[in-house]
Amino acid sequence: MHYDVIVAGSGIVGLGHAWAAAKKGLTVAVFESNGRPEGASIRNFGMVWPIGQPGGEARALALRNQKLWEELGEAAGFPVENCGSLFLAHHDDEMRVLEEFAAHSSSTRMSLEIISGAEVLKRMPCANPDGLVGGMFSGTERRIHPPTAISSIVAYLNTVVGIDFYFDTPLTRIKDQRVYAADGRAWTANRIVVANGAYYKTLYPDQHREERLKICKLQMMLSVSQPNGWHLGPHMASGLTLRHYPAFNCCPSLQQVRQRVAETMPELDRYGIHVMASTTPNGELILGDSHEYGDDIEPFDKSEIDDLILREINKVIILGDVRISRRWTGFYAKHPKQMFSVKEVEPSVYLVNGFGGNGMSLSLAVSEAVIDQWETAKHWEVSNEPA
Ligand SMILES: Cc1cc2nc3c(=O)[nH]c(=O)nc-3n(C[C@H](O)[C@H](O)[C@H](O)COP(=O)(O)OP(=O)(O)OC[C@H]3O[C@@H](n4cnc5c(N)ncnc54)[C@H](O)[C@@H]3O)c2cc1C
Repeated sequence: MHYDVIVAGSGIVGLGHAWAAAKKGLTVAVFESNGRPEGASIRNFGMVWPIGQPGGEARALALRNQKLWEELGEAAGFPVENCGSLFLAHHDDEMRVLEEFAAHSSSTRMSLEIISGAEVLKRMPCANPDGLVGGMFSGTERRIHPPTAISSIVAYLNTVVGIDFYFDTPLTRIKDQRVYAADGRAWTANRIVVANGAYYKTLYPDQHREERLKICKLQMMLSVSQPNGWHLGPHMASGLTLRHYPAFNCCPSLQQVRQRVAETMPELDRYGIHVMASTTPNGELILGDSHEYGDDIEPFDKSEIDDLILREINKVIILGDVRISRRWTGFYAKHPKQMFSVKEVEPSVYLVNGFGGNGMSLSLAVSEAVIDQWETAKHWEVSNEPA
């Protein structure tokens, strides 16, 4: 069989390229090792998150990405909620970072509001009032429910758009515009996109290694459905989150936050813990997360990490029902210096990977740009330093 475009991997990066190519009238096939998408794209918070992007090109891509989620949600029939995000400050140094960030971001198409503790409690009544200083609200973020969105996209691309999906079909080799499956079958294509996420050792391991991608393991939890009347509202990010996104590196007071956490709670730095919460259509809370990289990753999960995440969550919001119904780990590949990595590794074969914790926030727009401009995307770099 021959296709215009073949994609390896049915996570959001692979699906984004498949969708963008089909919109151009190209014939497309997606190959997936598993019986359905099971990687990072169904294991995340579902935060479509321009606020975390470091300005400049990355922020512009994130804003375009958000529009593409809305278009795709409407076409494929899954909700894209206009929820916004609220950063809570429970320390004065965190509040200073938020104020500096809002001042710095005034020219970047983000609508940011610095609000008092009392106003925070109006918009997020479950915020913990103990020590609450204030917060920053951004109206730009969107919420999707990852398992629902990804399965709806696959169904839509397959049955409505006419893309062929080959599940349970790991690709083991690509050569001369021909892809080979583990069972020996082969297909040809004019262009091939390799979007194999954290499982990048399955195809072009050396070329991925040259990009210095690092694997990261994250521990996550789902609460039981919260009682009637309990309501999260926007995505919740905590003061600890400011340490995590390079977007906040432009704020002089961030150093104080980092130093306080390092001195008083070194256990959080050891496991890269900051806390965030989103919600599902059933009223459960998606809670996380931790970050263990490279050689520090063990095959077994640590209950200590879950305990620390819940300890910190309880400092910033008060859950209606604290019981946990599910625990899982997610893995992603992260580029050390770029927001993602796009590279042509042999004629017409593109590796698209390394989105780290930003794949839901960037990859539809990146896919659109790659498919629009194959030639200029042969080696595309977008720095993760604040613009
Ligand atoms: C816990 C967690 C929380 C996150 N929260 C957010 C968030 O809120 N917002 C945000 O923007 N980002 C978030 N992210 C990041 C985001 O989920 C990832 O950046 C994104 O999902 C990566 O997509 P992907 O398609 O590259 O990888 P994946 O979704 O992992 O997909 C790769 C696919 O390729 C398949 N595959 C691998 N090798 C082969 C092969 N040889 N042949 C065929 N198929 C193959 C795999 O089976 C897999 O299905 C989070 C990530 C995690 C883990």
